[in-house]
Amino acid sequence: MIPYASAAAAEAALGRGLTWAEAAWFRYSAATPDYCLYCHNIVILLVVYTLAPLPLALLELLAPATLTSPYKLQPRVRLSPAAFLRCYKDTARLLILTVGALQLVSYPAVKMAGIRTGLPLPSLGETAAQLVVYLLVEDYLGYWIHRLLHTEWGYNKIHHVHHQYAAPIGFAAPYAHWAEVIILGFPAFAGPAIVPCHITTFCLWFLIRHVEAIDTHSGFDFPFNPTKFIPFYGGAQYHDYHHYVGRHSQSNFASVFTICDYMYGTDKGYRYHKASSLPKLKKDTMATDAFNIGKQDKIAASLRLCWPEAFPSILV
Ligand SMILES: [Zn+2]
Ligand SMILES: [Zn+2]
Repeated sequence: MIPYASAAAAEAALGRGLTWAEAAWFRYSAATPDYCLYCHNIVILLVVYTLAPLPLALLELLAPATLTSPYKLQPRVRLSPAAFLRCYKDTARLLILTVGALQLVSYPAVKMAGIRTGLPLPSLGETAAQLVVYLLVEDYLGYWIHRLLHTEWGYNKIHHVHHQYAAPIGFAAPYAHWAEVIILGFPAFAGPAIVPCHITTFCLWFLIRHVEAIDTHSGFDFPFNPTKFIPFYGGAQYHDYHHYVGRHSQSNFASVFTICDYMYGTDKGYRYHKASSLPKLKKDTMATDAFNIGKQDKIAASLRLCWPEAFPSILV
């Protein structure tokens, strides 16, 4: 709630006129309690989760396979419309029950962290700098949490749920054990706790985080994806490999950037197979999709013979 009775009072307090964004924010939030502004987060999350994966889901379901296969990371794996719908319903329910519940109890922490709702609004430069910090903090903490989730206990008790999708789709990005959804909320909140921001930046940060997760789980690798221009950005191919290997994966733990995996040497398997097996696998898989399924099974069998841990079941 903004502590000014009118826009004129806000302008007098700031010693300048309001920008159009500040005037709009004043009109929108002046009479709204801070807690309600904070609760926008869960609404934004559900809207983003519903809409962002939809275009690629429709493309995969409706477009001819010959059109989409060149861009699919695992062209042979295709889910039915019922499987897409089941994934959406299960994950939406999970988000409402976990993130929604977390939303109810986390407001005091948000206030303590110093997330503000008033005026002035942050500048574009301030917002961008804060978002970069949040991305780096989450990426680093998330990397280590993800590694812990790949210990035997962590995987068997919690992380195996997220890996049920060996060939991920956008709708499966937040699909996980409820405990994992809550645990991964901490690295996401750590950035704003260290560098407090305005509530608009806070909501934008969670929006970006969900869009990024949907992108890396999309199952598609388009050459014209604008994220390819972000330095050190892992992207869909990077994280798809982690799902592809599954339980035994010791590669590609970072969620956004490739820096941590490079620093700690957990990208060696990926780099090796990106340079050797994977392009060939994809090329062969696409060819055999159209002409010769039997040959594809032979390729899968030979890959499993060469490297059984990395090709456990996805190609059978
Ligand atoms: Zn994992
Ligand atoms: Zn994942």
